[in-house]
Amino acid sequence: MTVPANELIPRGDIARLLALASAYDQRTIGLADVMAWQEALAGCDKVEVEAAILALSKNSTQRITPPMILDSIRKARQAKANRPGARPTEQQRAAECARHTAAGKRGIELVYQQMNWHRSEDRNTALNVACPACGAAPNVRCRRKGRTPAGREEHRDLRIHAHPSRIEAAHRATKSSNHEVPA
Ligand SMILES: [Zn+2]
Repeated sequence: MTVPANELIPRGDIARLLALASAYDQRTIGLADVMAWQEALAGCDKVEVEAAILALSKNSTQRITPPMILDSIRKARQAKANRPGARPTEQQRAAECARHTAAGKRGIELVYQQMNWHRSEDRNTALNVACPACGAAPNVRCRRKGRTPAGREEHRDLRIHAHPSRIEAAHRATKSSNHEVPA
């Protein structure tokens, strides 16, 4: 898909892309950031930008900037040109785009989840057990509020959308079923 070089991504989409980046560096987002990114990313396709943010977040701990995104998009375009067979169809791109748009509407925490689909295995493991922090039953997702056994407030691990205590409990349960102590 080619986008005219001067075409701007709508501000709402830019805000969502910034929110995506903020999941990694906890930046605060203001109108000035939205305008700066909109200008810097003129001519880019928002799906390409999203893919670039995901790729950068996996490979770098640096704060993601528009020049990094442009560089990543350039590399991705080159890689695609070298592998014409691997080029996603318009249909796949539209599906991907729709998926991200839907996620954006449901809220940023679900966007985090979208970004971490590769961790679904860990998430499934956590879901096997009840959550000691928020009381969510097995196979029920963690509620927002949770507390450690000591009573301290516990935040969900947004990478896999579960409280750390639950992940620990799931790992303990898996271990004990794999190495049963003889009676
Ligand atoms: Zn929980």
